[in-house]
Amino acid sequence: MSRKRVLITGAAGFLGSHLCDRFIKEDYHVIAMDNLITGDLRNIEHLFKLENFEFYNHDVSKFVHVPGELDYILHFASPASPIDYLKIPIQTLKVGSLGTHNLLGLAKAKGARMLIASTSEVYGDPNINPQPEEYWGNVNPVGPRGVYDEAKRFQEAITMAYHTFHGVETRIVRIFNTYGPRMRLNDGRVLPAFIGQALRGEPLTVFGDGSQTRSFCYVDDLIEGIYRLLHSDYASPVNIGNPDEITIRQFGEEIIKLTGTDQELISLPLPTDDPKQRRPDITKAKALLGWEPKVGRAEGLKITYEYFKSLPEHEIKHKDF
Ligand code: NAD
Ligand code: UDP
Repeated sequence: MSRKRVLITGAAGFLGSHLCDRFIKEDYHVIAMDNLITGDLRNIEHLFKLENFEFYNHDVSKFVHVPGELDYILHFASPASPIDYLKIPIQTLKVGSLGTHNLLGLAKAKGARMLIASTSEVYGDPNINPQPEEYWGNVNPVGPRGVYDEAKRFQEAITMAYHTFHGVETRIVRIFNTYGPRMRLNDGRVLPAFIGQALRGEPLTVFGDGSQTRSFCYVDDLIEGIYRLLHSDYASPVNIGNPDEITIRQFGEEIIKLTGTDQELISLPLPTDDPKQRRPDITKAKALLGWEPKVGRAEGLKITYEYFKSLPEHEIKHKDF
């Protein structure tokens, strides 16, 4: 039997590269696409020698052409770290809107099933905790994070429209903060920021008083949830994340302990519209997909720390933001 063919956008990024690994492991033909704006080819270079892997360097906000048949499309291209999308706000809006439109058109033409990477940011700075899928959110459209949040909200809307109007098979995953190997050490997200600071012997920068919360999911758990959702028959959004909630200050203390650094936490101003609390309600994922996270923070952080420690010295020292 011939292999199923899957297009993965954002394939050279953190999550996209782990998805490539998973679909190769399941014996798919993987077509990887990325314009490398925040990604790194080193995340997928181990796959280049495989006959069932191909890579296209392409900006998906422009017309997307893929030769041959397609069974699945996973749209993961988009800057994801606040400092990235603040640096490239227009590209962020375009990849969530025009990019998604192009890929839905491709899915329709090829009769492929398409899964989009949405985010807990569609809930904005939520007024309820934890956040179930039914919550409509509290987003400031014209604030600095609006370029990401509104692109993702539009992405969900156009995906549902293609589903109901054109009958395209679609899936929507709302991803909560995920971490693991292949995050960029200098991407500004809290985990690489703290570990990078610990490795360089700098104080750990807590934004605001550190009482804001996040719930961190290890990447392998997330990928399993996405794989199950893709193969389910559920078209409405599903939260995938780890409900183990922690304040950013406590998180900083955990990183100090893990790394054994003699540094301390220091306070910097809280960025505008930084959500005060975030925790997924995963009732739906449990019931529909039989999914729940398996990797606890202690274990996941250890693996991630080992990865960052193994990077070349000049990369650990280099901070270009
Ligand atoms: P990442 O920055 O590591 O990866 C994104 C990839 O997309 C990069 O390789 C980048 O070069 C590529 N890309 C960006 N714009 C593109 C374009 N126009 N054309 C082609 N490629 C483009 O980020 P990530 O953490 O892997 O996030 C991947 C997806 O998951 C994003 O859509 C993000 O919004 C979503 N997500 C991630 C998290 C998380 O915690 N990591 C949480 C919620 C949602
Ligand atoms: N944060 C921090 N110090 C840093 C980077 C981030 O205190 O060096 C905080 C940030 O203000 C937010 C939380 O950590 O409250 C998570 O930030 P991140 O950028 O990782 O993701 P977000 O969930 O905000 O998209």
